[in-house]
Parts: sequence; C-alpha cells; structure tokens
Amino acid sequence: MNRYIVISDLRFNDLNVHRADAAKQFAWNALAWRTRLVTTSTLLFTAILAAGLQAAENISVLGNKPRWNILEHYQQTITRGEFAHLINDVYGTHGFAPDLIEIEDDTARILMNRDAQKFFTLRFASGREEQKLVPRLWRSAKSLPRAKRDKLLSGLKIALDPGHLGGSWAKMEERWFQVGDSKPVQEGDLTLRVAQLLATRLRDLGAKVSFVRSVDEPTTSTRPDDFRELARKILIKNGVPQPRADVLEPTDPGKEQTIRWQSEILFYRYSEIRRRAALVNFKLHPDLVICLHFNAEGWGDPTNPTLTDTNHLHLLVNGSFLAEELEFDDERFEMIRRLLSRAYDEELPLADTIALAMARETGLPPYAYPTTNSTTKVGTSGYVYARNLLATRLYRCPVVYCEPYVMNSNDVFARIQAGDYEGTRKINGVERKSIFREYADSVANGLVDYYSNARGGSRSPNPMPQPAPSAK
Ligand SMILES: [Zn+2]
Repeated sequence: MNRYIVISDLRFNDLNVHRADAAKQFAWNALAWRTRLVTTSTLLFTAILAAGLQAAENISVLGNKPRWNILEHYQQTITRGEFAHLINDVYGTHGFAPDLIEIEDDTARILMNRDAQKFFTLRFASGREEQKLVPRLWRSAKSLPRAKRDKLLSGLKIALDPGHLGGSWAKMEERWFQVGDSKPVQEGDLTLRVAQLLATRLRDLGAKVSFVRSVDEPTTSTRPDDFRELARKILIKNGVPQPRADVLEPTDPGKEQTIRWQSEILFYRYSEIRRRAALVNFKLHPDLVICLHFNAEGWGDPTNPTLTDTNHLHLLVNGSFLAEELEFDDERFEMIRRLLSRAYDEELPLADTIALAMARETGLPPYAYPTTNSTTKVGTSGYVYARNLLATRLYRCPVVYCEPYVMNSNDVFARIQAGDYEGTRKINGVERKSIFREYADSVANGLVDYYSNARGGSRSPNPMPQPAPSAK
C-alpha cells in the first residue's frame, strides 16, 4: 500500500530552495564567531564554510549528492532514438523545465547545477552496432547461463523486499487497522509472511534468494527522535511557524503538521528505504528486487475501519517523474542513471508477465488510478504503471513492485483473518488457498513464465545464450 504522502516533494522543494541561503547564512555566522571563539572546532567551520562557498545544490530530503562523473561510463551506450523514447514515454511523461534535459542530434545536455550553470554532456551511440556495453552489476534474463533442468530459476539472484516494518511499528507507519476484537491487520507482517513463502518456492526453483528485510524491525539505525530538528525545519518552511510537538490521537486532523508525525515519516519511509537501497546496491547485488505490498482503500479510523467490496491488483515500475521531482539534482541524476542502466527493458516485461500470472491466480481486476497526476500506464498487460517511488528509483537493478489485494475489502479481510494454511478452505463460500500462498505462488509462477521464456532452459525451444555484460 502506498498512500499519498502529505508532505509532498513539492513542499520539500521549498525547503531546498531556501537551503542554499541558509548555508550561506550559517557560513557568515561561522566567520563572525570565529573571530571571538578560537577554541571552537576548526573542522566544523571548514565544513560549514565549504557548504557556503559551493554553488547551491538542490537535493531531496535525506538525498545523496549526485556523482555525475559516474555517467561517463555510459557514454555511447544508447542511441538518440532510444534515449528520447525513454525520456518521452517512460521517465519524463509529466514534462519538465526545458533546461533540465536537452536532446541534441548527437548528445543530450543534462543540467547538473542551475546556479553554476553546469551541464553533463551525454554522447549517443551513432547506431545500434556502435553501442558500447552498458556497465551494470545485475544480469538480464538473456545474459544468464542456461537454466538447469527442473531448476528454471537456477543462478538467478532475487532480493525480496517485504514492504513496511510491521510488528510494534505498524501503528506508527499507519499500516494497522483492527475490526472489533479481531486480529489486527498489519501490512508489514503480511508482506513478510509472503516473502518467507515465496523464498521457499524460489529456492526450490534454483534461485539465490536474499531478504532486504527479514524481521519486523527497521533496517535503518536511526529513529524518529533523530529527525525532530529536520522535521521542525520542514514544517516551518512549509508555513507552519510554530509546529506542535505531538499528535493528539490517530484521527487528529492536524497530525501532519506536528513534529512527531513528520519525524516518524522521515524515519520509517525516507531513512528506512534509503538504508534498504544501500543494502541492495552495496551488499546484496541482486539481478532483480521484488517489492511485496498489500493495497488498501481509505479506511478512516483504524480502530473502526471502513470495509469495502472493492478489490484490485496493480504493479509498479520506476518512471513517470513529476516536473517538481526532476528539479532535484539527485532525483534527476538517479533518473538518468536508471534510464541508462536499461533496467526498464527488463523490469517492464517482467512486471507484465508477473501481473498476468497474478491476475490468473487471484482473479483480480486491474486497479485504475483516479488521476494520471503521478502515474503513467505502461506495458501490455493493463496492470502495470510507471511511478517514481523511492524504492523503485534507488534500487540499482530491475524492480517490480507488487500491489495486489485491498486489505480492507470484505473478501481480503476474511482471508487475512483465516491466516496461513495448506491446501484450500472455504472462505465466504469459495474454496481458496491461503492468501499468503496464493500471493507467493502467483509471483513465483510469473517469474518462471518470464525466465523460462527469456533465457535458455528446458522450457525454451530456442535458447540463445549471450555473453554476460561487463560489470562495473
Ligand atoms: Zn505498502
């Protein structure tokens, strides 16, 4: 489930626009103090001064400084036509300021820093034959060695990312509701159960499976209190001059303007997902990541939730950046890097294939977003959208983000209450597998469909082995 975040990046943008001025002001203050306080740490002053002297960088919340020189490795790895297609149809579908990315005949000019008027020049390959190999650590289906008999996923490295935290964090992350005295529904616990069942199935098929989260605890070592000062600054910059410290109750209408609520979201979303990205990118090095979620419709009061008859399925891949998001130097850099890695070429057909397998198994109709403000429909299955989520952007490999089942639908709620079991049981008059097994089996079946078709294996009549690309 991925409900709308109320502190939008647009509002963070306001903060970042002002951050350059703030840095300069701090530097000035530091100079003034230095004349009086000779014992204060020189190191601290140096850091502050350096920040003040640099051209202002526009970085998203908790974002990393972009390392533009990395893009040098991607020179002449893409043709102009492919680059333009990916910008126009996948990543930049909501438009953006014209100075951010300019596509010329042989090059693309990408803005690195507006204050300094610095640009990165990407040189296109003159044709498909002239394209250099794309540097990357993950392997496409076509570049994997031929599958072993009956082990259709042999050699494939899959990382499973069970969404959210669950456990004692579920209420804080607003992934918790309870109907009467029934067992509370906690999305983070449901996704972890699915991941465990899915891992068993994938290992039986020969895959090497790792977990981005394997317990109901955060992977980040930070906690909400570490972000109180940042939360306060964000609120002040967003027009809340004297933010309240605490939330009064879960239904408190002003909760999003409190330091408590903001510092919690900085912890469980921004810090947590950035930590997971570091695990994926620097430790696990998978060929793909499957993000596991359950969807929901607005449930109102979590202690007296609204149940609905609506139920649906959709999958997400990265793309569809908002114009405001592309203003951030780090998000623009990450978008270009992702585009050049060609993760989309792999994750789109993967997502389409998994979606069809999930639709077959669950019988769920495709979700239709109420607006096209943040998503773009892509692929051929009717179930897949491009959307710029932190996880789909930051994990440097193909990422398929699954959003089946409305947790607060009458049907799904009853199935969650029934728990996990083997075989089938009658629920609401229908013989069903446990919802956890149905979810895990459908994703596993989709992966088998995709990889047995795309790589050489016992199911593939015409295996076409290809050399592995050079890893950077
Ligand atoms: Zn979720």
